[in-house]
Amino acid sequence: MADAFEVPRRAMAIFAHPDDVDFGCSGTVAGWIERGCHMTYCVITGGQKGTHDPKMPPAKLARIREREQRAAGAAIGVRGFVFLGHQDGELEVSMPLRGEVCRVIREHRPDLVITQDPWSHYQIHPDHRAAGWTGMDGVIAARDHLFFPQQLRGGRLKLHRVTRMLLWGSREPNIWFDISGTLDKKIKALQAHESQLGGRSELRRRMRTWAQTIGAAWSIPAAEAFRYLELG
Ligand SMILES: [Zn+2]
Repeated sequence: MADAFEVPRRAMAIFAHPDDVDFGCSGTVAGWIERGCHMTYCVITGGQKGTHDPKMPPAKLARIREREQRAAGAAIGVRGFVFLGHQDGELEVSMPLRGEVCRVIREHRPDLVITQDPWSHYQIHPDHRAAGWTGMDGVIAARDHLFFPQQLRGGRLKLHRVTRMLLWGSREPNIWFDISGTLDKKIKALQAHESQLGGRSELRRRMRTWAQTIGAAWSIPAAEAFRYLELG
């Protein structure tokens, strides 16, 4: 349980596709925002492959999905959005990508970063693994001056030390947040992803059951669970 968890002043979610964050943690994030947290989303791909419609052009889908993610974030009060626009399904853990995420962290200066658990075994989507590694690696790079030193020249950007991380989708969670009070907001955020969820009328019931199952370990009516890391 997370009764004593200090709400971050500034936080950033780093994730592969528009909608990942809303399935993973928007109930928790909505609760932080209600208590004054400034939240930024960093979306790595455009989600261009997220369709079964052979007539949907990928570039058009990316524009639709960016709009949907902005609306989903707005539904819970997210203030910052960064869309890196990489190709859906083709993310690779690389130094250039790490550099991009490092720059975003140095620009937005979150106290806490929340991302996808790259260790989550049986995680079959390659982008989810790559986004998790990149989120973690970006955090380490952002704090040390010898990583991507060109970003620091001129003095506009400074080093930044993230002190806490949360990983969603973890097979080994060690912290649970009660989202009973924000589950409706999470569902509202999810409903903004119309291109992905259009026609799924059972979304509300499914999300309630899922949150209830996660919370059952601690007798919480609705929860999200994470792996929590404190960084030295
Ligand atoms: Zn995804």
